[in-house]
Amino acid sequence: MWRLSPSAGALLLLLLLLLACAPGGSTPLPPPDVAARPPLPEDYLRHVAYEVPINEHVLLRWPERAMPLRVHLPPPPAGLLTDPDAAREAVRLGVLGWSDVVAPGLPSFVFVDDPGEADVPIVWSAKPRGWFIASCSYEIDVFNRRLDVSHVLISGRWRGGDEAPLPQLEAAVLHEIGHALGLTGHSPSPGDVMYKYVTHETRPVLSERDRRTLQALYSRPNGARVLGARTIR
Ligand SMILES: [Zn+2]
Repeated sequence: MWRLSPSAGALLLLLLLLLACAPGGSTPLPPPDVAARPPLPEDYLRHVAYEVPINEHVLLRWPERAMPLRVHLPPPPAGLLTDPDAAREAVRLGVLGWSDVVAPGLPSFVFVDDPGEADVPIVWSAKPRGWFIASCSYEIDVFNRRLDVSHVLISGRWRGGDEAPLPQLEAAVLHEIGHALGLTGHSPSPGDVMYKYVTHETRPVLSERDRRTLQALYSRPNGARVLGARTIR
């Protein structure tokens, strides 16, 4: 799930934005603490493994034969959002955002008319859902190490009822589809779509670490154990 950032997260993002927007011309030396900071790891796979009894973490993903994943995306109920067509298009783009990240066709998606046929049914919520613009619910068969998605629920609204702008709606759906693909935890880094929090500055763009993490997940067999995992909920 993706939550509205607490003030600390917002401050960190603001700081990162300020660093990114530093005036150019010459390349200033980074402050010592930045220079001394170790580089980010190439992926966050150890944070997105699924915890199974007892104290074991495993990778869960769809088999390649399941592609394209079938997605049912109904129109929003009348009166729910200001521009239902634009909102539905933002959700559609959010679903498609992970396409071909691992390899051509992996993953891939096709939209179906029958929700009963869908691997990923999308459901609109008529009410705000606490901190969540959207959320993904699993139906995981722990013993058979089988990933399954119950549904992705979308309210399209911030806590308090304000409608989320379309870029944040698309980013939230991109995040939830990451969960639906088997990234069952969160990235520790604010620059990644799979970071736990969303802010008004968040854009629906996968980072290189998002891409590498999905590639790492789908380069390993379903059910593979991950040693040293620390899933971020
Ligand atoms: Zn999440």
